[in-house]
Amino acid sequence: MSILKVCHLGHPVLRMESRRVSPDSLARASTQKLIDDMLETMVEYYGVGLAAPQVHESLAIAVIESDGPRGTIPLTVLVNPEVTVLDDELIEDWEGCLSIPDFRGRVPRCRKLRVDALDRKGKKIKITAEGFFARVIQHEFDHLMGKVYLDRMPDLKTLTHLPEFQRYWLPPEKVNS
Ligand SMILES: [Zn+2]
Repeated sequence: MSILKVCHLGHPVLRMESRRVSPDSLARASTQKLIDDMLETMVEYYGVGLAAPQVHESLAIAVIESDGPRGTIPLTVLVNPEVTVLDDELIEDWEGCLSIPDFRGRVPRCRKLRVDALDRKGKKIKITAEGFFARVIQHEFDHLMGKVYLDRMPDLKTLTHLPEFQRYWLPPEKVNS
């Protein structure tokens, strides 16, 4: 496996709609290696999700996994995902992106959705997700459509550099329990 170079905002591939992956193409060793490399790259950079356009491949593939404080998400590989919103109540929360390093911003996202996709073996999967999992799916699905989280911010006033995010926006650490 290899750690891939992550492209940053301004690279045209991040603004392209990615191509769907045919079952034959998904079964190819090169595509399976891409998925393995995406998983390794996501872990290397402490991401909770990574979409193929972020590693210069305009293909409809995203990987997701989290065991952080915002919630546990099992390792999920989504190929050709289609999102159906199940609850369009908008919840606002912080997001960051490996392609927009060292920034955070508050982004409204739908509370609950269903995603229909293929797994890495080409099997049809259907996942219902809410909260943080639903947020990450929407973030990655946007990448496959050529969008980034900045496009979803109704107001850029919360766009924050990471040191200022940690200084002004994170809840203060509890001392003495
Ligand atoms: Zn991103």
